[in-house]
Amino acid sequence: MHVPMSSPDITDAEIAAVNAVMQTRYLSIGPQIVAFEEALAAYAGAKHGVGVNSGTSGLHLCVIAAEARDGDLVITSPFSFIASSNSILYERAIPLFVDVDPATGNIDPNLVREAAADLARGGETARRWLPRKLRSGAIGQLRAIMPIHAFGQPADMDPILAVAAEHKLAVIEDACESVGATYKDRPSGTFGDAAVFAFYPNKQMTTGEGGMIVTNRDDYATLFRSLRNQGRDVFDAWLNHTRLGYNYRLDELSAALGLVQTNRLDEMLARRAQVAAWYNERLADLALVERPFVAASTTRMSWFVYVVRILPPADRTAVMQRLAEAGVPSRPYFTPIHLQPFYRQSFGFEPGDFPVTERLGEISLALPFSSVTTEEQVDYVCAQLRAALA
Ligand SMILES: *Cc1c(COP(=O)(O)O)cnc(C)c1O
Repeated sequence: MHVPMSSPDITDAEIAAVNAVMQTRYLSIGPQIVAFEEALAAYAGAKHGVGVNSGTSGLHLCVIAAEARDGDLVITSPFSFIASSNSILYERAIPLFVDVDPATGNIDPNLVREAAADLARGGETARRWLPRKLRSGAIGQLRAIMPIHAFGQPADMDPILAVAAEHKLAVIEDACESVGATYKDRPSGTFGDAAVFAFYPNKQMTTGEGGMIVTNRDDYATLFRSLRNQGRDVFDAWLNHTRLGYNYRLDELSAALGLVQTNRLDEMLARRAQVAAWYNERLADLALVERPFVAASTTRMSWFVYVVRILPPADRTAVMQRLAEAGVPSRPYFTPIHLQPFYRQSFGFEPGDFPVTERLGEISLALPFSSVTTEEQVDYVCAQLRAALA
C-alpha cells in the first residue's frame, strides 16, 4: 500500500466551475475573483478579501501595508514555513525572532511582551534581541508583530493584541495554515490589521496556487488592490501606475476553483477533523508518540497537518526510513527558519538560539493527512508506525 502525503479534495463541482470559466474566455480580472473574495471574507468574518497569487505574496503586501522596511523590525517566530519571515526580508526589514510555546508551537506571548518592552527601552537591553550579525549597528524601529497560526491552531492572540496596542504595532496574522480555525470562538484572520490565507494544493482548500488577504481596514484593502495590480489605483488608466506595485493577481480559473472550495470548506474541515480523530484514537497507547496538543482557547481546530512528536529514545530519522520502506511518506515539520543556510549566513544564527523551536524541529513528524485520507489508510499508517517503533 502506498499512502499519499496529502491530496487536494477535488469533486465534479470544481471541475465544472473551472470548465465554465474556460468557456467564457475571461481568464483574469473578471467576476470569479470578486465572488471568491466576497465568499471567503464572509466565511472568515472579515470586511474585505483581496485575492492574490500566493500566500507568500499576500504576506509581502501586508508587510508593505504595515510600513515595515529598511531595517525596521517585525516580531515573529522561527517555527514556521520560511515564507512568513521571507516576506519581511523582501522589504529589507528584519524578522525579530522569539521562541514558541512548547505545547502548541505558536509564538510565546510572554516573549513578545518582553521583546517589545526591551526594544522600547533601547540600548543594550534592546540589542540582545537582534540577530547576532546586526547587534553592532543602529537598532531599527519596531513596526509589527506577525504571529503564525501553526498547523491550523490559532496563536494566543489576546496577549499579543495587548502588546500591539500598547506599543502601537501592526499585527499581521500568518493564517496560511488556519482557514476556518477559531480562537475563543472568534475566527482566525480577524484579530490583526490583516491576515493571509494560502491555497497551495496541500492546504485545507486549494486554488492550485493562490492566497487571500482579509482585513477590516478600508485603507489596507484599497492599498492591497493597487499593489497586487502593478500599483494602479482604481481610477488609474491601465497604463498609469501610482506606486511601485507587483503582478500578484489571482486568475479567474483559480478563483472559480476557490469559490467552490469555500462552499465546501466546512465539509472538508469536518473530514479532516475525522481523520485526526482516527489518528488520535489509534496512537493513544504509543508511549513514544506524542499526539497533537489542542489548547483550551482553540475552539475550532482547522486541521492542516497531523504532526506527532517522536520522543527519545525513539529515533525519528530511523522511524521515517522504516515508514518510507513501507510506502508511508512522512516529513520533519518544521525545519527552524533561523537554521536555514540563508538565515545563518545573513544573520549569524546558531543552533541553541531558539531551543524550543529547535527541539520541536527535531522531534516533529507530519503523517499522511488530507480530507480524502481514508480510515483504512490511517489504520495502515498507524500499524507501520507501531512496527517502526518496535
Ligand atoms: C503555506 C504557507 C505560506 C505560504 O503560502 P504559499 O501559498 O505557498 O505562498 C506561508 N506561511 C505558512 C505558515 C504556510 O504554511
